[in-house]
Amino acid sequence: MRLSRLPLNTLKEVPADAEVVSHQLMLRAGLIRKLAAGLFTWMPLGLKVLRKVEAIVREEMDRAGAFELLMPAVQPAELWRESGRWDVYGDLLLRIRDRHDREFCFGPTHEEVITDIARRELKSYRQLPVSYYQIQTKFRDEIRPRFGVMRAREFLMKDAYSFHLDQASLEATYQRMAEAYARIFTRLGLRFRAVEADSGEIGGARSQEFHVLAESGEDAIAWCEHDDFAANVELAPALPPPGPRPAPTAELTRVATPGARSIDEVSELLGVPPSRCLKTLLVQASDGGCVALVLRGDHELNPLKAERLPQVAAPLALATAEQVQAATGCEPGFLGPVGLQLPLIADHAAAAGADFVCGANEVDAHYTGFNWGRDAPEPETADLRNIVAGDPSPLGGGPVSIARGIEVGHIFQLGDKYSRALQATVLDRDGREVPMIMGCYGIGVSRIVAAAIEQNHDEQGIIWPEPMCPLEVMLVVLNPKKSESVTAAAERLYEDLSRAGIEVLMDDRDARPGVKFADADLVGLPHRLTLGQRGLDAGVVEYRERRSGAEEQVPIDAVVDFIRQRLERTA
Ligand code: ATP
Ligand code: MG
Repeated sequence: MRLSRLPLNTLKEVPADAEVVSHQLMLRAGLIRKLAAGLFTWMPLGLKVLRKVEAIVREEMDRAGAFELLMPAVQPAELWRESGRWDVYGDLLLRIRDRHDREFCFGPTHEEVITDIARRELKSYRQLPVSYYQIQTKFRDEIRPRFGVMRAREFLMKDAYSFHLDQASLEATYQRMAEAYARIFTRLGLRFRAVEADSGEIGGARSQEFHVLAESGEDAIAWCEHDDFAANVELAPALPPPGPRPAPTAELTRVATPGARSIDEVSELLGVPPSRCLKTLLVQASDGGCVALVLRGDHELNPLKAERLPQVAAPLALATAEQVQAATGCEPGFLGPVGLQLPLIADHAAAAGADFVCGANEVDAHYTGFNWGRDAPEPETADLRNIVAGDPSPLGGGPVSIARGIEVGHIFQLGDKYSRALQATVLDRDGREVPMIMGCYGIGVSRIVAAAIEQNHDEQGIIWPEPMCPLEVMLVVLNPKKSESVTAAAERLYEDLSRAGIEVLMDDRDARPGVKFADADLVGLPHRLTLGQRGLDAGVVEYRERRSGAEEQVPIDAVVDFIRQRLERTA
């Protein structure tokens, strides 16, 4: 590929609306262009990366024994009504009507369509297990499309679905898929972690997410370096503190705290660390009233854990100001357990301490020296909070660390949720009709490209992991217009490399060397060769490795072998 022919408009400035580095670099390097919110064109160099990711995903799915098919992107509403998701999927679903006024959606995922295929094609247990996959465009009308292709509305997903007679067979395939996923991310050259996950709205039993580790990740992952524990913070259990609760040492004392509502304000005013303060949150109860949830001031409420409690309404919603007033006669910011006439659930850590500061259920007042059992009844306790760094691993190996990650893959054991709803049954060994057991397995193919850049870049630009580089070698030709011999030598080199199966992007533009080097760094091909008059006279080409910056002179006639060796070494 020649830059004299490919219109590559690189940008020096950081685009104003791009918040994360991968989005900035993808725009600056001309890999993608935005059409509208969450809609992107993959430009030629970007598309090459996407295709390489796709190829590795496809190879590993084939190796795992799944069969590729391609389902329609547009799906009839009736199918979604059969599964019950037409009404619950909400605004993420892009709904459309055809000329006959029939309702459709643009598929955000394909459980319904594949289950329809399965109920038509699969009749007997002898046909099971079977797995299908596709690599296809999805549309989700995300509330906040952002970070470029990382959270787009239209994006490329690999989605696979497996069908089984029983749970044991599902577990075997699930395990095989987990291994295929680990191979995919390893082959792509990414640092990643597989974590136990919440199965979200797809529903079902076990589920694991695969995260590329990166500071900008939207997800927090708790993991322990001494045991196998790794889970999305959303789901990681926070254990009750060990040992008995310390005895009270202080009297319950009412103190004036004018204007101090937040834990930080109260903690600063009274000179008490947030871990010694209690926060009391009123949320909607499942019976229509309110429930008080009490946490330590330094801990954060985990909404998923809270809404799983039978007393709490799902999805979790805070009580309105009027409800708080009606239930406590007070404003949020000064609530506490003393004298509270409401059902109350305390987080394990909040229930395990003594001598707390808490709200006095009176504006501008708090208590110090609050103790459970003495100043308020012993509370019902539950795990209500997010795990934090330093908490013990639930597997007992030691303290957990928190890392940030980008979800690039997700595998679920669906069970019979869809097969029951759509009556996708087979005849079992005894000739009985039974619903099939299903698994589903997704990979964000386009998101992987952004995630890879988050993990692999420097001040100058992208540093592609070799397995997903758009092309392998950037051949920079210095001042081609000035010297016919340089142009001719560059052409020969380009031919030789290409014939050897090496992917070359030749910068034969009529541009200044500084511009070319800057673009080479920005676009980030793993290997750079520079050919100029001086080198040509000496019979050498300058080599530079993008990642390390290491440079060396290579005799022109040894360049093909040299690059070949480099590619093998890093492969
Ligand atoms: P998220 O929590 O990031 O919204 P999800 O859990 O809703 O994702 P899944 O239904 O598990 O997504 O879809 C499978 C994969 O598709 C995800 O692991 C992710 O890599 C990718 N994906 C999901 N939503 C988007 C999006 N808006 N843009 C790009 N990729 C996405
Ligand atoms: Mg997911």
